[in-house]
Amino acid sequence: MSDIRKPIVVGNWKLNKTVDEAVDLATEIRNIAGSLHKGEVGVAPPYTALAAVAERLADSNVILAAQDCYHEDHGAFTGEVSAPMLGDVGCTHVIVGHSERRQFFGEEDGLVNKKVKAVLRASLTPILCIGELLTEREGGNTFNVVERQLFGALDGLDEELVSRIVVAYEPVWAIGTGVVATTVQAQEVHGFLRGKLTERYGEPVAHAMRIQYGGSVKGNNFEGLMAQPDIDGGLVGGASLKAESFIDIIKHFR
Ligand code: PEP
Repeated sequence: MSDIRKPIVVGNWKLNKTVDEAVDLATEIRNIAGSLHKGEVGVAPPYTALAAVAERLADSNVILAAQDCYHEDHGAFTGEVSAPMLGDVGCTHVIVGHSERRQFFGEEDGLVNKKVKAVLRASLTPILCIGELLTEREGGNTFNVVERQLFGALDGLDEELVSRIVVAYEPVWAIGTGVVATTVQAQEVHGFLRGKLTERYGEPVAHAMRIQYGGSVKGNNFEGLMAQPDIDGGLVGGASLKAESFIDIIKHFR
């Protein structure tokens, strides 16, 4: 973590929580977030709970994020939700390109790129997820894969737009598995990504960009990850579903 970049932790609740459960959890997080000064904290409830959670988080410093969006703003796209609609309901951030979207819904870099652009068009902040599969790591392809995903998603964006993005490096083999990347493995990729961002968009943009780590983050491994120079927070799945385990992570921002 660097002094220049304010770290950011976002809890991705995935396909979990009724509206009442979501509001209760948001309330507990809101109650502690007020005392956190060193970082930003956010939650990404399912679509059905966004409006109610937005109301509960109003006037708090907790970020409201959506887990995905469609890349068109409106029209005949049954079942989809657009970035402007998410802004309308109170979201400021949208997770894009999560590995579960890539794995279960066939999302590829081209579509992720369209979604990133849609989120920026709506004046929201994309949280762009990238990360390699275990087979890709074992095949020695980690750097190729994350570079392709990164620049695929950022294709056609200028420095100003790129500077509005948060990147989340999430090795797929570490997501929901309890196997966290070592601090060395994580820093190696984060440092690589920042280097590539520097080459393409220049030092000021790359230096200011937040790169979160995601993959089995918990209270007991977060501190070590955050001690790395290029890790600027976390995207948290399982441990964000209970107030106690999420607070165990974010209390490091006191
Ligand atoms: C995620 O889904 O983005 C994630 C990091 O999940 P978990 O923390 O459960 O590994």
